[in-house]
Amino acid sequence: MKPAPFAYHKARTLKEAVALLAKHKDDARLLAGGQSLIATLNMRLSAPSLLIDINGLKGLDGIAKKGKFVEIGALARHTQVERSDVIAKLAPLIASAMPHIGHPAIRNRGTFGGSIAYADPAAELPACLVALDAEIAIAGPRGKRKVKADAFFKGLFETALRPQEMVTAVRVPAADKTSRYGFAELARRHGDYAMVGLAAGARADGKGLKDVRLAFFGVGNTPVRAKKSEAALAKGDVEAAVAALDLDPSDDVQASGAVKKHLAGVLLRRVAAQLMEARP
Ligand SMILES: Cc1cc2nc3c(=O)[nH]c(=O)nc-3n(C[C@H](O)[C@H](O)[C@H](O)COP(=O)(O)OP(=O)(O)OC[C@H]3O[C@@H](n4cnc5c(N)ncnc54)[C@H](O)[C@@H]3O)c2cc1C
Repeated sequence: MKPAPFAYHKARTLKEAVALLAKHKDDARLLAGGQSLIATLNMRLSAPSLLIDINGLKGLDGIAKKGKFVEIGALARHTQVERSDVIAKLAPLIASAMPHIGHPAIRNRGTFGGSIAYADPAAELPACLVALDAEIAIAGPRGKRKVKADAFFKGLFETALRPQEMVTAVRVPAADKTSRYGFAELARRHGDYAMVGLAAGARADGKGLKDVRLAFFGVGNTPVRAKKSEAALAKGDVEAAVAALDLDPSDDVQASGAVKKHLAGVLLRRVAAQLMEARP
């Protein structure tokens, strides 16, 4: 299929992109890597009258440590994040999720900000941001604001972004000696969206764990925290954590809800083992 007709504008500055969004609101869409947007246009699931190309905006593709955080620009390509030494060292949860996002051709074009803004419930990065208690930096006509990942993902493909706003960067706490993380997903083929996945963060506390955050994906409309299981894992009881899983996934084309819930328990045992391993 072909998309419905649309106008195209290549924005040269952040200010210009935001001004165009403010003017056209829901009639406009930002074009980043195009890996999700172009498919929705071609299938006519979306028919904006204007595409605002943000690929030329300067200064939005950096990856750097800033104080106690690692900042990832919205236009950083998935491949760039996957190959970054800063990410490998200071955001290892994100490093372990990257190879699961689609295939190399998709990762060459797709952007970090596009993935977050699109908010697919089976996507890896939104769950990683929830697990890491990350912060999303947003720019709009009234200036800048920050939203915590827990509050950013609001519903199915729905975020806290207003129509006239865009994501400019994401900040995750930089890992230190006490940081623990775990990641696992089950997909029919490597590179497919996950049937069920789990991104987790925690801190070492003596021989145990504290600040455990378990963010499942593919089991609800947004990344889903399993708070009762987090509490059980902090007490070191993996089987109690599995028994406390209070997920209620719906049936979908990949699997029934019951199968997904079983798989979530399988992933939780794998991720718990990763969380309990000391980092080298
Ligand atoms: C075959 C295939 C397999 C895939 N598999 C996976 C997978 O396993 N896991 C996964 O997570 N993803 C997967 N993807 C999606 C991929 O990760 C996309 O790159 C990502 O979802 C969107 O990023 P993008 O830069 O391409 O955004 P685009 O497609 O350009 O935009 C997506 C949406 O986000 C909006 N947007 C883009 N950037 C911003 C911004 N900075 N601020 C506000 N709004 C913005 C756009 O207006 C649009 O509505 C797959 C894609 C394909 C085609």
